[in-house]
Parts: sequence; C-alpha cells; structure tokens
Amino acid sequence: MKDYNILLEQALNISIDYLDNLNSKPVFPTKDDLACLDNFNESLSITGEESNKIIKQLDTFGSRNTVSTNGSRYFGFVTGSVYPVAHAANWLATTWDQNAALYDMSPIASKLEEVSEKWLVGLLGLKKDSAVSFLSGSSEATLCGLLVARNTLLQRKGYNIVEQGLANCPEIKIVMSEEIHSSVWKALNFLGIGKKSVTLVKSDQDGRLDIEMFPPVDDTTIVILQAGNVNSGSFDPIADIVEIAHNANAWVHVDGAIGLWAAACDKLKHLTNGIDSADSLTADAHKTLNLPYDSGLLFCKDRKQMIHCLQASGDYLSFNTDKRDGMLYTLEMSRRSRVIELWSTLKFLGKDGVENLVNQLCDNANYFSKQLEKNGFKVLNNVFFNQIVFQFNNEKDTKILLDKIQNGKIMWCGSTIWKNKKAIRISISSWKTTKEDIDLCLEHILSISKEIYKSKHDNCLNIML
Ligand SMILES: *Cc1c(COP(=O)(O)O)cnc(C)c1O
Repeated sequence: MKDYNILLEQALNISIDYLDNLNSKPVFPTKDDLACLDNFNESLSITGEESNKIIKQLDTFGSRNTVSTNGSRYFGFVTGSVYPVAHAANWLATTWDQNAALYDMSPIASKLEEVSEKWLVGLLGLKKDSAVSFLSGSSEATLCGLLVARNTLLQRKGYNIVEQGLANCPEIKIVMSEEIHSSVWKALNFLGIGKKSVTLVKSDQDGRLDIEMFPPVDDTTIVILQAGNVNSGSFDPIADIVEIAHNANAWVHVDGAIGLWAAACDKLKHLTNGIDSADSLTADAHKTLNLPYDSGLLFCKDRKQMIHCLQASGDYLSFNTDKRDGMLYTLEMSRRSRVIELWSTLKFLGKDGVENLVNQLCDNANYFSKQLEKNGFKVLNNVFFNQIVFQFNNEKDTKILLDKIQNGKIMWCGSTIWKNKKAIRISISSWKTTKEDIDLCLEHILSISKEIYKSKHDNCLNIML
C-alpha cells in the first residue's frame, strides 16, 4: 500500500500545483509546449515502467499541453469547469471503481441515480415520474431519445422494429430547424433515418425555428427542437410546437444540451415553456452545470416505454424490480458511476446555487457583449443565454483578430459562421469566470484590435478604438 500512497500523493501535489498556477499558464499551449508532445512518441515498453515516472512524465510534458478549460478564461465551444466538490467526488469514485450498470454491481451508484433523478426532475419542473438516464453526453442522449421516439411511434402503428428491422419499416419523418446541432444528424444516421425523411424548417434571425414555416406533421413524425442554439443561445418556441405536434400524435424531442438549465431559473424559465410536455429531452451536465466529463442526461416522460426500448438482456444479468438498474436507461452497459459527481454538485449548489450559476453565466455573457458593442465590435446575435457571436470590422479583420487571440496566452475562443457571416464565438460556461476576467479579456481584445487597425492605417492619427 505504501507505493500506492506515494503515487496518490504525487498526483495530489501535481494537481494542487496545476490548479494554483492555472490562471498564469497560457490558456492554450504555446508552440514550445506543443513541441514537447514529441516526448510521447515512444515505442511501447516490453516490460513496463515505473508508475511514479509515468505520472512525472504526464506532468512534465502533459500538464503544459492541457487547455485551461478548468480555468476562468476559456470560451471555446461550450465548456464548463469543475467545482472542487465534484473534483473530490470524482477521485473518490475512481477509488471506488464502481460499475453503474446494475444495482448488484454498485448499490451506491444506483441509489444516487435514483435520488439525482428526483432532484433533476424537480429542478427543471418536469412531470413527476419522468425518467432520467445518466450517460456520456448529449450525443448519446439524443441517440437514445430518438431511438425511444422511433420505436414508440412504430409500435403505435403495430410495427415491431426489434423483430422486423428496417427493411420494410414504415417511414419515420423528422421535422426540425435548419439550425439543429450536428449530433442530431449523427444520431439519425445511426438510427437508419435518411436525409430524405427530414424536413428542415427555416429559422429566424436569432436561429429560432420559425413557427410560421412549420409543416403539417402526423403520428409518424418526430419533431426535434432546441433549447439553446450552439451559436446564438436562442430557444425554439417549444410550448407552441409541442401543442401542434401532440395534436397530431407526433413525438417531440428537445435538444437542451446547453439551455435546458434555463428551466431552473425564475428569470429564464419562460424560454423553456412547454418542456414538461415534451416526450424526451437532453441536457449536458458537463456544460452549463460545470460537471467533469462525461456527464449527459436524457429525460423521458414515459419511463416504462423508455426502459422497454433501451433494455438489453442476458442470462447472467439479473434485474431488480424495486431497485434501479442504470443500464436499462442507457446505450452503455458498463459505465463509470458519473452520477457521484453530479449528485455532489447538486447537493453543493442546492436549488438556489443552480439558479445563481445559470444567471451568472448569462449575466456575464450580457456584460461581455455590451462591452464589445460599446467598443465598436459588431455583436451579431441577441444574447439570450451564454453565447456571443461577434465581428471586428469585416471578415478579414475578424479572422486576424481571432488568430491573434488564439495564439495569445490570455484567453481562447473559437470561430463560427453565423447567418452566413464568419464570426468569433464566445461561450461563457465556467462558474469561475468573473467580471474581472472579462475586463482583462476585453482589454486584450482591444489592444490586439488597435494593433491590427494601426498596422492598416499607419499614417492615420485618429484611431477608431
Ligand atoms: C454539445 C452539444 C451537443 C452534443 O453534446 P455532447 O455532450 O458533446 O455529446 C448537442 N447539442 C448541442 C446544442 C450541444 O451544444
């Protein structure tokens, strides 16, 4: 055990040191850092190597090649950080090494899933006996949700897809916004639903599905909506569409990877009106809720049907009637007990804490965008949630600015194309981001912009910014 202790202490010390220096380290590795990755180009050892040297190598060449997503100035994609309580719970979960597939494999994981399910359903105001799956992320959640949707609609038509397969299957139609996330397309591909069965609905200037353009649907249609557009943060008009869709016995699935958490906030929950009637919904806890990876959620209004569609069986598997067996709700069988971190974070934050977190992310996005506009940048979206897309002068200057931001050390954000315009995209997703961080980033962006402007107008005395 002594060696074990020494190793864990080594990891603890490295971790504390890493976290202490996170704010002074470049947000994205520098060229010199990246060159160090060559140290990993080794052939596999024949006899194995010493554990402490392996951890040391990870720290020496690995730590500097991490992206500071656990810091306060990373704005790429939609990327949360981690709360200390979840970090500690994660270590404990690894110590326990629980497989959350079955109650018989981990009573504690099963119990925490049962409890967290109730908490989440209450927090988001969903129907009381909605079921929750704890899976790897919204991609898996969408795949599972759409599988339940497809199989249920077919079952209602008297078609058993498990028996009969896709060959003579009645067509399942999809209606969704042109702004839908790429992971939905991927899920449709997995499910054997082709592009020819998809009707894309136009969206408005904020990326919200345009209800005026919504086509007729029927009982073989899955309508897929969005709560939180990945660029603009906008929300589709969920309540109105659910009503139309349910009148026609269609299924409604909501991709709420980023935005479903708005339902936990008094100020924002009007954006998610109608989610309690949706048939299935997804959310990512590793984004807005700042959980460690990988922590996605699927919600289904009809628990029985969900389990019916997602079940697997085998002679060696014993399911419990009165205890939760997690694998009945997911694609995965063996699964780390990610719920341990989720439960800890929910317990740490409480209802108010979740609300404050989401409000803080949105307030920060609002502040950042206002400051950008004040300083002459073009913010291209209405800031509904935590997302900002903006331009500097024109597409060319925007690209130069982005390159310089990405090659600087202060912050990192990505690019996108928003309504046919190339833009810089900022996602405020970390609980650690403060107004001071934003001021620092603004100062940085302004000074780069001035340089760009100056190099273009060398003789010009009047600098725009
Ligand atoms: C991130 C995201 C997804 C995919 O989720 P993963 O957890 O990365 O699999 C789906 N939809 C939206 C809107 C997202 O932002």
